[in-house]
Amino acid sequence: MQSYDLLVIGSGPAGHRAAIQGAKCGKQVAVVEMREVVGGTCINTGTIPSKTMREAVLHLSGFNYQNIYGINYRVKEKITMADLAFRVQHVIKTEIDVTQAQLSRNGIELLTGTASFVDPHTIRVQSSRGSAEYHADFIIIATGTKPAVSPKVPLNGRTIINSDQILQMPEIPKTMIVVGGGVIGVEYTCMFATLGVRVILVERRPRLLEFADAEIVEALSYHLRDSRVTMRLNEEVSSVEETPDGRVVANLESKKKIPGDALLYAVGRQGHVDELNLPAAGIEADSRGRIKVDSCYRTQVPHIYAVGDVIGFPSLASVSMEQGRIAAAHAFGRTVNSNPANYPYGIYTIPEISFIGKTEEQLTEEDVPYEVGIAYYREIARGQIRGDTTGRLKLIFHRETKELLGVHIIGEGASELLHIGQAVLILKGTVEYFVDCVFNYPTLAECYKAAAFNGLNKLARL
Ligand SMILES: Cc1cc2nc3c(=O)[nH]c(=O)nc-3n(C[C@H](O)[C@H](O)[C@H](O)COP(=O)(O)OP(=O)(O)OC[C@H]3O[C@@H](n4cnc5c(N)ncnc54)[C@H](O)[C@@H]3O)c2cc1C
Repeated sequence: MQSYDLLVIGSGPAGHRAAIQGAKCGKQVAVVEMREVVGGTCINTGTIPSKTMREAVLHLSGFNYQNIYGINYRVKEKITMADLAFRVQHVIKTEIDVTQAQLSRNGIELLTGTASFVDPHTIRVQSSRGSAEYHADFIIIATGTKPAVSPKVPLNGRTIINSDQILQMPEIPKTMIVVGGGVIGVEYTCMFATLGVRVILVERRPRLLEFADAEIVEALSYHLRDSRVTMRLNEEVSSVEETPDGRVVANLESKKKIPGDALLYAVGRQGHVDELNLPAAGIEADSRGRIKVDSCYRTQVPHIYAVGDVIGFPSLASVSMEQGRIAAAHAFGRTVNSNPANYPYGIYTIPEISFIGKTEEQLTEEDVPYEVGIAYYREIARGQIRGDTTGRLKLIFHRETKELLGVHIIGEGASELLHIGQAVLILKGTVEYFVDCVFNYPTLAECYKAAAFNGLNKLARL
């Protein structure tokens, strides 16, 4: 039986980084992947396709320039699903090639097939070509998630779809029902609304994106309404039907009926553990398929780790990569200096949202005295040049020490801009740093200085 120091199950961001870290430790590593291509949900159906589609939507619709040239400005008059898919397929292919090249450059063996545990150290890999068993000293489970299914929502892959099936839609609908106000549901709501689709967003909870700062979510909600999105909060779907004329109706628990041309079901994802035969390894997953781990990502069996979406929140590609790296480093006795409290969030709504650190709600609950400084893109020359006059950057800092505690941004480039604040926050800097710092002019980065002045002026008034 072939033996490895480390066997990684899954080639998404978590598995990919775990394998490379193992190889960098000089170990013999293999990755098992059940798809014909590497990259996982991230490259094939999730992050990369959705972010590329967003870019195509912004470009073709002319959205970013409508503030300057008028709301009728378009790059393409009749945008089709084929236009969007064209750009997406190109990026997916390139990313798969890059990932595959990185694995082979690092001497990592790729085993194509479905992995399942035979015992805690033995993995069977089953494919159409047959089955083989492999021994490994350490095993990292990085099998990710798949969209949750519901008997209430009969997916048909054309008009009733989940997020993996977006590009299979034959055409861009005129009206669309999106069920689920989490990150995936809200991101697709924004994209379709930007294409001129009338979107009805149904969410069970009283607000969208519960983990984000309330003021920023409020600003996003304003934009959604402005893009003619109807938000049905505190509402739950009881059933979904196809009508004889090929349309869709969502029936709500409140007895409302919502008609549409298509429905996107984006309510949560389920840990992808079905094929793993976890009991043979002595591991259990919860009812949502999530595996419990300790702070080093070890499962209850010490030589088996689990990383990425299969362990649950925050389910981000960025964090999954880091978890993979930490787990492999830990297995081979390397120390990694990484603090989950310093991980950023990027939400690619239109406009984009990004944040790090504490929200006002958290600090209020923790009784921490804080002050807030806000800068609006419209006050900054670059905001005017770009035509984004609605963006804003919010700094939250300790009222006494002035230490930066949180950065929350909504607006173009938010997810890139955040990293300036991230560096200051991680290095325990104060807002005074931004006052004394000279930023290139004209840049959106100047928002940091304007927000710092705004916050410190409020303190001075106190
Ligand atoms: C629509 C959408 C948009 C997203 N946007 C963002 C974003 O903008 N930013 C961000 O950071 N994150 C985003 N995410 C989340 C991101 O895609 C995930 O956090 C990331 O893919 C998780 O990585 P992973 O390695 O844990 O799992 P995955 O990427 O899901 O990879 C798991 C791999 O394991 C394989 N596998 C499963 N079971 C087995 C088995 N038994 N044997 C062999 N192989 C197996 C699967 O085939 C898959 O290839 C998005 C997700 C979705 C769905």
